[in-house]
Amino acid sequence: MKKEIGKYSFGVGDRFGHQARAQLRALVIARDEGINITPVWNKSYREHTIIHSRPEETRREADRAVQELGWQDAYFVDADHVGLKTVDYFLDSCDFFTLDVADYIGKRASQSDISNFVESNKKFIPKLSIPGIKGFFDITLLQIKKIAGKYLLAVQEAGRIYRHIAKRKQASDIIIEVSMDETSEPQTPVEIFFILSALSKENIPLQTIAPKFTGEFHKGVDYIGNVAKFQKEFESNLAVIRFAIEELGLQHDLKLSIHSGSDKFNIYPVINKSIKKFDVGLHLKTAGTTWLEEVIGLAESGKDGLQVAKEIYAQSFERMEELCKPYLTVVQIVSEKLPSPESVKKWDGLTFASTLRHDIDSPQYNPSFRQLMHIGYKIASEMGEHYLVALSDNEKVIAKNVTENLFTRHIKPLFFELNYLGECK
Ligand SMILES: [Zn+2]
Repeated sequence: MKKEIGKYSFGVGDRFGHQARAQLRALVIARDEGINITPVWNKSYREHTIIHSRPEETRREADRAVQELGWQDAYFVDADHVGLKTVDYFLDSCDFFTLDVADYIGKRASQSDISNFVESNKKFIPKLSIPGIKGFFDITLLQIKKIAGKYLLAVQEAGRIYRHIAKRKQASDIIIEVSMDETSEPQTPVEIFFILSALSKENIPLQTIAPKFTGEFHKGVDYIGNVAKFQKEFESNLAVIRFAIEELGLQHDLKLSIHSGSDKFNIYPVINKSIKKFDVGLHLKTAGTTWLEEVIGLAESGKDGLQVAKEIYAQSFERMEELCKPYLTVVQIVSEKLPSPESVKKWDGLTFASTLRHDIDSPQYNPSFRQLMHIGYKIASEMGEHYLVALSDNEKVIAKNVTENLFTRHIKPLFFELNYLGECK
């Protein structure tokens, strides 16, 4: 039987592999309140390399959480952002693969492949009308050629990665996502339609696709951009996917995946309303939000935990440039807004926690501070045992923050009715 990802799924990234239970607890609360969401523990090659962890550990932690909490439903471990060079590292432990082909966007496929693609899509010229989108799109031969020139090679690369995985894994046991988010330009709904058309020809059992949306999706902070414009584009993408499932014979439950999705509080209500309006599913990836809750928990605990949190900040401040490097397209820190490590040294736990916590109503909340801490997990990793012992010593307060953050600030506004008042118990 095919393993199903379900309509709603949630990427619960966990840098240090200690919070799987606290994360799963948030999904248990959601389930008890009537919304089923499949947990997916996602961790990229980039994160594993920085932390020196392995996918086996992510798998072990996920399995353990599922067992201890008696979770009976599906769950997955995501080889997040892999290519041919890195996928082998994940094959044994993962059952969700995010094929990252963004580096191939803009590189040209062979002329004959482009011609074949154009030929097979001529039927959509001159007008493409998609139920749910007002009016129609004008489609020209030149436009299809252009899209093929830009995206066909990337789609073919996704096919190559998938076929490599399929030598070792049964299609029915795995979930395949294709990601094109870490690139400079967003894809338009029409481009997404033709990308899906190309993907359908690669025979990839595609379950989710992660495009780049307009606006900025920086790590761990709110969406920056025009919310109304995002809504229009997002709804068009949903309409395209719903239409493509029928028209191109894709998986019946194909859905959009939103990366760097955590903490995009200003667009959560739009996402919530839109997926219900179109009756389609959603996958949303979070990674840094849980790591930041760990630090918030440490700060709140006072004493030793707070010292560890301050130490991470002081070193992150010193090594900001180096830490930013792997995240250049997804963080935007305003250095002038950062407090000096000397002043942070004098802070109490509450001040540290409320400067870091993503509570837009709090006058102390500082997005630059939060983003720097977001990428500061490398420092915590270098602390090794010192950091891990602090996690264990303060497990209770950390777990409470992790669960509450995921349920109250993320899951509730994304999936529940917007007037739902349930609290995290
Ligand atoms: Zn991504």
